[in-house]
Amino acid sequence: MSTDQEDAKGRHERSPAARAASGAPVDALTGGHDAASPLAAGERYVPSARATPREARPLDEWESRPRILVTNDDGIESRGLLILKQALEEIGDVFVMAPDTNQSAVGHAMTFMRPLRVRERTLTDGKPGWSVDGSPTDAVSLAFLGYFGISFDLVASGINYGSNLGDDVTYSGTVGAAMESVISGCPAFAISQEFVGEPNFELAGQMAKLVARNILEHGLGDGELLNVNVPARSVDTFSGVEITRMGKRVYQDQLLERLDPRGTPYYWFGGPPPTGVADAGTDFHAVGNGKVAITPIQLDLTAHRLLKRLGGWSWQLPASDPTEPGPQESAEAPVAQQDPLGS
Ligand code: MN
Repeated sequence: MSTDQEDAKGRHERSPAARAASGAPVDALTGGHDAASPLAAGERYVPSARATPREARPLDEWESRPRILVTNDDGIESRGLLILKQALEEIGDVFVMAPDTNQSAVGHAMTFMRPLRVRERTLTDGKPGWSVDGSPTDAVSLAFLGYFGISFDLVASGINYGSNLGDDVTYSGTVGAAMESVISGCPAFAISQEFVGEPNFELAGQMAKLVARNILEHGLGDGELLNVNVPARSVDTFSGVEITRMGKRVYQDQLLERLDPRGTPYYWFGGPPPTGVADAGTDFHAVGNGKVAITPIQLDLTAHRLLKRLGGWSWQLPASDPTEPGPQESAEAPVAQQDPLGS
């Protein structure tokens, strides 16, 4: 049977921006998508709204409130996510899209091998949020590729349960979500809370608001983001803010083998918690001394010292014997195929 009417109805019903707590206007569609291949009945490309953040300037000069996407890697029900949302609602219209379940340490993973399901949820504050059965990067991608039908000015990821210091950023789903935003041209920050026992997010909430305001007012360069780590201190007892560089994690992982009920071994990565090298100027040093660490990081991972050294190495293949016939050049040489997954 024809599903045209049902499709139209379904699309109307899942117009989530109209139901968001902030009541933000849905007016920022920035271009459609010319489908390269014909679509089957019931399929469509969602019009993309990616990457049109507004220019940074003092908040009182914005003609309308900044639009902020909040996500995390601990899952939609995380208390840190709610604290972040509530803190940023004071300066912008906030939309929440986060994983259904805890996705800590999935890094910058994106789901390609199965479809994604999005569910509208009611957050603990009674307002709507959206969850996806995927990664933090999936959540950001859904938002940027048009799920809400609007573009965003900032992405905030966190507040993570636990620090993301030094090499942690390469595993962190919290940081991964912020990276995805930056790749799409939207400024972003990740924020993580050191904790012992039950975390107190009061300082982190206030810092999130301060960081968001600074980014919206001053802007970030291409490929740049901020990684914020908050010490397990109160607003009254923390020791200030330090701009830091990434330190060096010392992991102490051990492979723990157990037996399942059928006698087959299975494995956990276990061992003592990681430590870090607390050199002055690093994120480890700052958080260890009760300070909020703000670390600027960038997606350009080029190793510039090595880049210079490589110029001094030999890059010639061994010379071939000129008397031997070379490979025949064919007019029908195969064209390099593009990897459909782009990786
Ligand atoms: Mn996490």
